[in-house]
Amino acid sequence: MRSRWNDTEARACATDLELRAYSSRLLGQDPALVLHGGGNTSLKGELGDLFGDTRRVLFVKGSGRDLKSIGPAGFAPADLEYLLRLATLEHLGDSEMMRQLRLATLDPAAPNPSVEAILHALIPFRHVDHTHADAVVTLSNSPHGTEILRELYGDEVLVLPYMMPGFILARQIAAATRDVDWNALRGIVLLRHGVFSFHEEARGSYESMVELVDRAEGELGRRAGAKVVQPTAAAPDSPDARPAIALAKLRKAVGELSGSPMLARLDRSPEALAFAALDDCGELLRRGPLTPDHTIHTKPFGAVFDADPLPGLRAFAGEYQAYFRDYAQDHHQCLDPAPRYGVWRREGLVCLARGSKRLEIVADITRHTIRAIRLAEAMGGWRALPRDKLFEVEYWELEQAKLAAAGSAPEMQGRIALVTGAASGIGRAAVEELRRRGAVVIALDIAEGKAWRESWDSREVLALCCDVTDADAIGAALEQGVLHFGGLDILVSNAGNFPASASLGEMPDSHWEQSLELNLSSHMKVLRACLPLLETGFDPAVVFVASKNVAAPGPGAAAYSAAKAGLTQMARVAALEAAAKGIRVNLVHPNAVFDTGIWTDEVLRERARHHEMEVSEYRSANLLGLEVTSSHVAAAIAALAGTAFSRTTGAQLPVDGGNERVI
Ligand SMILES: [Zn+2]
Repeated sequence: MRSRWNDTEARACATDLELRAYSSRLLGQDPALVLHGGGNTSLKGELGDLFGDTRRVLFVKGSGRDLKSIGPAGFAPADLEYLLRLATLEHLGDSEMMRQLRLATLDPAAPNPSVEAILHALIPFRHVDHTHADAVVTLSNSPHGTEILRELYGDEVLVLPYMMPGFILARQIAAATRDVDWNALRGIVLLRHGVFSFHEEARGSYESMVELVDRAEGELGRRAGAKVVQPTAAAPDSPDARPAIALAKLRKAVGELSGSPMLARLDRSPEALAFAALDDCGELLRRGPLTPDHTIHTKPFGAVFDADPLPGLRAFAGEYQAYFRDYAQDHHQCLDPAPRYGVWRREGLVCLARGSKRLEIVADITRHTIRAIRLAEAMGGWRALPRDKLFEVEYWELEQAKLAAAGSAPEMQGRIALVTGAASGIGRAAVEELRRRGAVVIALDIAEGKAWRESWDSREVLALCCDVTDADAIGAALEQGVLHFGGLDILVSNAGNFPASASLGEMPDSHWEQSLELNLSSHMKVLRACLPLLETGFDPAVVFVASKNVAAPGPGAAAYSAAKAGLTQMARVAALEAAAKGIRVNLVHPNAVFDTGIWTDEVLRERARHHEMEVSEYRSANLLGLEVTSSHVAAAIAALAGTAFSRTTGAQLPVDGGNERVI
């Protein structure tokens, strides 16, 4: 591990707090130090009030803030003297401690101080840095970890046993450091938890952390690195020989077990496959997590799936409920018994979560955990905390309060959609509307170039270049999308084009055939590929984007109108056929949506002239006299795919501002 300190960047910080935020971000940017909101940092300084009085203040990371992106506003200024008085109390319940920390905060707009605020207050240096460095935790999760760490750091570092975070931990540190010579210390290691470093200067504290962790990494490499044998990953053998379908079935069962749709990801990276090829991979994963604070994201242990994953899922649920019964007190309520990660023998690692951000967190934690397990195994055995200690943290009132603070879930959370023709116009608007409602989206478009694909956050929208007239390309994109998100609940079949005007007497074969291929046949190919996946979906729904031309065609548009009429008829048959599987199939018929790729300014001017109208008049030439945009169509599509229309199939919904030929 090397220091990321950059003098130019550091000099650009105008205040001590800005510099504190800067060196905190250096820690946050290194996933070997902290993951997703883990770790915390602080600065001791002064703050004046309206009356000219100044107080000693601890600026400490706000609860729920992420070191990776923290700025000065992410720190809560708390009255340092008050925190030190709290540290002298014999007992302080954790909820009461959080209330007291809030009371000690000197800015009403500040976030809540970190639960470790009192501990930071006790360390008598201006800067305190705390991480959950993989290397240190891995060493402490192996046999003789304590002796190895004590030997490695000598008198420079205080190595303390594991203790539940919160007030008890602050008390433990206070007791352990009562007679200590702080100036002889560079850090504190909390076994199975992490590391503290401290210094008067920001750089000194940060670089102490880097140096301490670097030594642990070196030690780990010497003791274990060479001994980690990478097994050759065996070829996956999924029961269906199609892992996407098998994963979608597993996701369905997990969602039913947890009570709401969940996302799933199959990690088939070389590391994941190598782990899944180990004979004892399941037993290793069931031993426990890297650090107990991972349990709120991952639960205390992983599931083990065989070729047919469902028995493994049931076994996990049984084991989780037994764990709850073993350690719960009267006031505890059992969380859902669905796993959040697991190893699927020979297939890879499965990560599960309700939303896309949480899925990313679980995937990162799982990756770091299996690496640590392999290293600790090479040192003699992976040792996680015992389950009673894990229970204390998983069901800790403060951890559960963090989850509850996340608020209510959006309508489509945990649901997975596929949208074709997604780079622009109605397709793009549909992706955005589905996202707004909480769904994740596999977005397909034939458009090349990266710009449209990179315009979305890949955690939420997996954008792939795909020609929907090519059945093989559809299959490959679908497979990739399903392995990324876990299944399919919603299909928005939208890709299409509006060919140049051509009367039937002069129509070339190619003109007719190209329109049928894209505007009709491709929709059948996409639907055919999606149906087996939709069967495993949650309230599965298909929405086809047809056209007002079905009911009210215009001269010169035979190729387009005939294809869209065919599409409508196909959708009606699909509604009949798919109903028994619970899949709803509906259509929208938009008209005159001018913010799509079809309508360039020139075409718009030409059509307006043709109808002897001003462009503005032509834009809203419908019964309601209102312009129709992609976002209006997208809202109708999302509604048809959502709960409002959960009892509707085979319906055709005009989105055209009203048209007397249609009505
Ligand atoms: Zn910690």
